[in-house]
Amino acid sequence: MGLILVAAEVAGGSPSPLTLELVSHARTLGDEVAVVVLDPEADAVLPALGAHGASQAYVGRETAYREHLGQPAAQVVSALVDRLHPDLVLFPGTQEGRDLAARVSARLRLPVLANAIDVTKDGDAFLVRTAIFGATVDVITRTRSRSPLVLVRPKSFTATASGGPQPATEVLPLPAEAPLGARRLESVVAPSAGPGLEEAKVVVSGGRGMQEAANFEVLEHLARQLGGAVGASRAVVDAGWVPYALQVGQTGKTVKPDVYIACGISGAMQHLVGMKGSSHIVAINKDPDAPIFKLSDLGVVGDALKVVPALIEELRARGLS
Ligand SMILES: Cc1cc2nc3c(=O)[nH]c(=O)nc-3n(C[C@H](O)[C@H](O)[C@H](O)COP(=O)(O)OP(=O)(O)OC[C@H]3O[C@@H](n4cnc5c(N)ncnc54)[C@H](O)[C@@H]3O)c2cc1C
Repeated sequence: MGLILVAAEVAGGSPSPLTLELVSHARTLGDEVAVVVLDPEADAVLPALGAHGASQAYVGRETAYREHLGQPAAQVVSALVDRLHPDLVLFPGTQEGRDLAARVSARLRLPVLANAIDVTKDGDAFLVRTAIFGATVDVITRTRSRSPLVLVRPKSFTATASGGPQPATEVLPLPAEAPLGARRLESVVAPSAGPGLEEAKVVVSGGRGMQEAANFEVLEHLARQLGGAVGASRAVVDAGWVPYALQVGQTGKTVKPDVYIACGISGAMQHLVGMKGSSHIVAINKDPDAPIFKLSDLGVVGDALKVVPALIEELRARGLS
């Protein structure tokens, strides 16, 4: 009893960081954590999943899981949930996770709660926290059904290794009648020289105060010097200055770096929700009353187009090119 099932995602031969966050947190919610890993590289990720607390793995290694959209995975995961009746099923709140959870929900007529930022145990039930109205209001939902499906936002939990051994493995064959209708034609990984935005220890983010797309070059330079990644507000993504993949906030990515440097960002609630968990927040804004200063540990009232180049020069003088 007390089984928590986590739908794992594999990226480049490793479990995705979000998968490790879910497996780690699942340890606080049940007596046993199982993972379902449907990917040709499933075996490669089992040691890491075990080290984070999974004691049982259900594995499918067929290439169909990569070549097709979520239908074959949904069939296999649905059959597994139907068989195990886990207390809770956690899905990564990614495009693939949403696709899979929605299909499993429809197949099994189970409720799915999306955008969770916290999940705790409450007797036989679970309390699932989500944020609404631009993250100004938290909603806590108490689950009543058996095996509720919950999609969790990245960085809601911390990935912590428990030092567990490789999980026991059961291979799930792909059913002969698995639906293989929609085929994935191409997957494109956005080119990135530095660390990914969600994993970076330093994030240098720009907003409308950077004035124009070309000025993001100085943010890229600063991020490179600090070994970090560039982020952005939605205003500049909407303006087409940078791709959507860089957007931080309610409808973008959630980041929790050691240092978040907000340059020309006002600090709208929808932006703050994506970065307020950063350990140290530095804000550069020419408006002393900008809301971002209420959250920042260090505030610089000034023109980001002058302050950031000055910072780059200072770092260069200290040997960082
Ligand atoms: C449903 C919904 C979802 C949303 N999701 C997101 C989201 O995920 N992420 C997000 O970011 N936003 C989101 N938004 C938009 C959000 O409400 C704000 O409009 C947006 O964050 C503002 O971006 P900004 O701070 O870059 O621009 P602005 O609000 O225009 O602020 C620009 C700031 O730059 C300062 N400035 C100007 N010139 C300079 C200069 N030279 N040097 C220094 N400072 C300067 C100004 O003082 C100002 O504070 C969402 C909105 C809605 C309604």
